[in-house]
Amino acid sequence: TKKPPVLQSFLSLVSRRASHLARQQYDVIVVGGGHAGTEAAAAAARVGAETLLVTQKTNTIGALSCNPSLGGVGKGHLVKEVDALDGLCGRAGDWAGIHFSILNRSKGPAVWGPRAQLDRQRYREFIQSELLSTPRLTVLEGSVEELLVTEPNPEEPGHHRVTGIHLANGSHPILASSVILTTGTFLSGSLFVGQTTSPGGRIGDAPSSAGLSHTLRERLGLRIGRLRTGTPPRIVKDTVDLSLTNLHPPDSHPTPFSFLNTHTRCKPEEQLPCYLTHTTPGVDRVVRESLHLNCHIQQDTKGPRYCPSIESRVLRFPGRRHQVWLEPEGLNSDLLYPQGLSMTMPPDVQLRLIREIPALHRAEIHTPGYGVQYDFVCPTQLSPALQVKSTQGLFLAGQINGTTGYEEAAAQGLWAGVNAARSALSMPPVALSRTESYIGVLIDDLVSRGVTEPYRMFTSRAEFRTSLRPDNADLRLTLKGRCVSSLRYQEAVRVRDGLQDALAALQTLTLSTHLWRKKLPDIGISESKSTILTGMDLLQYNNVSFEMLASVFPECLSPYMEFSQRLNIEAVYRPHCDLQKKEIERIQKEENMTLPQDIDYFSLPVSLSQEVREILDRVRPSTLGAATRLQGMTPAAVVNLLRYVQHTG
Ligand code: FAD
Repeated sequence: TKKPPVLQSFLSLVSRRASHLARQQYDVIVVGGGHAGTEAAAAAARVGAETLLVTQKTNTIGALSCNPSLGGVGKGHLVKEVDALDGLCGRAGDWAGIHFSILNRSKGPAVWGPRAQLDRQRYREFIQSELLSTPRLTVLEGSVEELLVTEPNPEEPGHHRVTGIHLANGSHPILASSVILTTGTFLSGSLFVGQTTSPGGRIGDAPSSAGLSHTLRERLGLRIGRLRTGTPPRIVKDTVDLSLTNLHPPDSHPTPFSFLNTHTRCKPEEQLPCYLTHTTPGVDRVVRESLHLNCHIQQDTKGPRYCPSIESRVLRFPGRRHQVWLEPEGLNSDLLYPQGLSMTMPPDVQLRLIREIPALHRAEIHTPGYGVQYDFVCPTQLSPALQVKSTQGLFLAGQINGTTGYEEAAAQGLWAGVNAARSALSMPPVALSRTESYIGVLIDDLVSRGVTEPYRMFTSRAEFRTSLRPDNADLRLTLKGRCVSSLRYQEAVRVRDGLQDALAALQTLTLSTHLWRKKLPDIGISESKSTILTGMDLLQYNNVSFEMLASVFPECLSPYMEFSQRLNIEAVYRPHCDLQKKEIERIQKEENMTLPQDIDYFSLPVSLSQEVREILDRVRPSTLGAATRLQGMTPAAVVNLLRYVQHTG
């Protein structure tokens, strides 16, 4: 199909930029232009590093390999946090979103999941244009063949330093102090459809070179594992009988992801619906009958438990009816994405399978589903800055660390970008604690616990989720100011000051219960005795909103109307967050107790079992806090380690 003029001009700009002969020396090189790589490159440049992004095809920068959607429960929190740190994906989502909804609305706002269906083309356009206008960032089309690393230092056996990259076209090496690998599903990638296997990182794209895997495995001695995932066939919309589905409209008022946006590009009335349908016993039958033709499903590598293929759903839950969401792929796209029907059987069997669903009984497939298997690096070999512990200057982010999903990739990419730039500019690394962000939870889970199957974010992974809410990500993160523009910083300061003033105004608004009852007769104040209540106390009542209080006390509260929703949420969670403060302080104290990376755990003169010593030696947690969260650590071992740290520290 012909590309629209806007995208055409973006692409020609990208290739013009790419065709400039790259310099030979950068502060930071990012390998891969997916969700991790684009955030990493933009963040490194924002921190002040001269940055090069090298990717196989510039026109796939920002491509959504699988589902055309962003956010959701847990994932939406990551998007808000990436945005708060001035990353790209939140603003890209606001630009490209065509169906916005807040998931989990029946629960408290701390676990709401902002989500949007995206127009694939608009998403790519936005990411590409942002990168092109980022100062200090050069984009180069090319495939990285090899990492340049020094031989291990004889004084520090096993410790290498990265010095740059070699491109597959055999051109000169390009040098850098830091290199970030974000190769996604491409590292030794193989694609599977039916009984056919071919090398590839994604349909239409070659895998990452064998040289790169070889360097990681053989020269750097990293432990590498293998994971798999898959994607559904894309279906021609006109061939679907939508009258046999349930219509799922978007929210009538789209809520933007970005703290900088007050509205989305797509107007409320322009949004497109999704459609819900279900599998039938016929689908189960086709899956079972075709298992012998489906080599992806017969492989032993771990697939995503949380985005499983239709084959694994049928095998795990025989006879169950499974949901299938038919989601738009774009405003002008004539395709639907059938979420829930990821499959890898031969294309003719895929067609037979989808036609077992009444709404799809005459459906045509545009592109068949397929599976991909790829190498990942066991992430316990990384520091909390996402640097490979044994290789100075080498950072990893995204699916290469065993995660799945755009949001998880973007979050790691941003943080690796910040730290790679800081390392190149001789600044100390920075870490995000799990007490202050979902990004901190994600990174801590990866580097302390590792992964045995593709990792995705859930709100249940965060211990302090009432404090780590989507609505307050800017207050938690933007003001740390490590990689944000002054425009965003100033906006966060304005919001913080406004909220503080509003909270002070609510606190000073004190009336007796008797007077409150007179002013707000309908709210049913429960205190029987006469007592003094503040506006903040009142806001904690279920049926009281800031808007209500402002209508009664307009002089003192109406200046803060723009913060009304945030104040309503803050009031609900404040008592609980106050209670959590002590626990957060304890964890932060433990996080500040660092464990030297060169400890010989086998000769440590404290009482630790052999098993615990082995775990500590393998993972080498960087703090006492990280050690306490390792699988297999006992409370007694933690106490003994604490005594050791206190004694030596
Ligand atoms: P990617 O987005 O994969 O980007 C990697 C980039 O690196 C690409 O641009 C590639 O060209 C480039 N690259 C690789 N090697 C080199 C090299 N040597 N030199 C230069 N450039 C290189 N996620 C879900 O959440 N749920 C799913 O069900 C799901 N299913 C998926 C199914 C398939 C078939 C695929 C391919 C992906 C699926 N994903 C799914 C994963 C989702 O696409 C990724 O989680 C996300 O894109 C990871 O981002 P990333 O930046 O780590 O890697």
